[in-house]
Amino acid sequence: MSNRQNSTPNDLSAFWMPFTANRQFKKEPRMFVGAKDMRYTTHDGRQVLDGTAGLWCVNAGHCRPKITEAIREQAGELDYAPAFQLGHPKAFELANRLVDIAPDGLDHVLYTNSGSESVDTALKVALAYHRAKGNGSRFRLIGRERGYHGVNFGGISVGGIVSNRKMFGTLLTGVDHLPHTHLPGENSFTRGIPDKGANLADELERIVTLHDPSTIAAVIVEPVAGSTGVLIPPKGYLQKLREICTKHGILLIFDEVITGYGRLGAPFAAQYFDVTPDIIVTAKGLTNGVIPMGAVFVSSEIHDAFMTGPEHMIEFFHGYTYSGNPIASAAALATLDTYKEEGLLTRAAEIGPYWEEQLHALRDCPHVVDIRNLGLIGAIELKPIDGEPTKRAFNAFLEAYNDGLLIRTTGDIIALSPPLIISKAEIDELFDKLRKVLMRNI
Ligand code: PMP
Repeated sequence: MSNRQNSTPNDLSAFWMPFTANRQFKKEPRMFVGAKDMRYTTHDGRQVLDGTAGLWCVNAGHCRPKITEAIREQAGELDYAPAFQLGHPKAFELANRLVDIAPDGLDHVLYTNSGSESVDTALKVALAYHRAKGNGSRFRLIGRERGYHGVNFGGISVGGIVSNRKMFGTLLTGVDHLPHTHLPGENSFTRGIPDKGANLADELERIVTLHDPSTIAAVIVEPVAGSTGVLIPPKGYLQKLREICTKHGILLIFDEVITGYGRLGAPFAAQYFDVTPDIIVTAKGLTNGVIPMGAVFVSSEIHDAFMTGPEHMIEFFHGYTYSGNPIASAAALATLDTYKEEGLLTRAAEIGPYWEEQLHALRDCPHVVDIRNLGLIGAIELKPIDGEPTKRAFNAFLEAYNDGLLIRTTGDIIALSPPLIISKAEIDELFDKLRKVLMRNI
């Protein structure tokens, strides 16, 4: 028991917050106490326009009645069911509904509770698949610089963000990384997909040859790298990765934790780019961010490779206490209903051109060195203050929050990804607010 006698609801010291400058935050906390559709309510009673769909997850907007009601009903009917050797109907119904919107051929779903767990599940499936096929020499995993694949050990090993890796020792061995696809100068201020850089995919051929193709299990990339500042793949790049993987019998994994469920204007980035990977990793928008849940889609080829032993034997030794949790499944089903009824999985394609226009109009603001966009994602890269990287973007975040706008910053980049329900008037409001912030001495 804690020896602190006087802890009160206002005592913020016990919660060691994730990815937060704790000491600074606790001097001047920012709290949300309510939310509805496009807006949060702060602890001091202000409205904040959500420019980031929470953390790229609240795709249908906040506190949507259908989802709230489904959770309430499910909690009163079947709260929990063991996930191993037992089931409940909604987990199966959800898997069928998910497969219906997934690219053709990705016909099976494993459940997790987060993006990080989905990533590690996908990497384990890939390694185990090759063993199941008698190819145990395929043990290497290839990620990409500036890739973010969550915080578990598999994810930080294939991920390419130095600060996520450097405190934790050796990580997974047998991992290599592709170069990232960001070409400042050549592709700056591109609207949509950049023209230059497809040849960066040829680096995969080089890495594969270096290690010997028969040792490589899988390549994992985010189709659009989100957390490291919205890096959009050059035209033809993902197609090339697919061709090289197919040629060498390597599995291609798309981490669609951000791009999944409509962010680009198609259910998945795989459909948007017309490139089908062997595995798709998802979470976030699956339940509209409301309940922790992830889903990993795998091809029949992968699934069937495990279905060969005696019938009473467990085929894949992996899973979580909460895999396919009933309340999470109910939330996800209601989320998919909401997406369908409101056409949200394709809405970014309709509103995208307006979004692009308003976003790129910020080009004349001081300190702006690049602007990037795709679907309902946008990024504004700022010139760092000398010797103080990340400070200017963080200042912009604080100013925007005080002005009633939620943006996200990563390094010197402002990232935007509003709920897919955003109206043209709300897009105008978002960029008016952001322009005012950028015009200040930040
Ligand atoms: N992969 C990608 C591409 C992500 O953007 C994220 C989260 N931002 C994750 C994995 C990890 O998801 P989670 O935080 O739910 O573990």
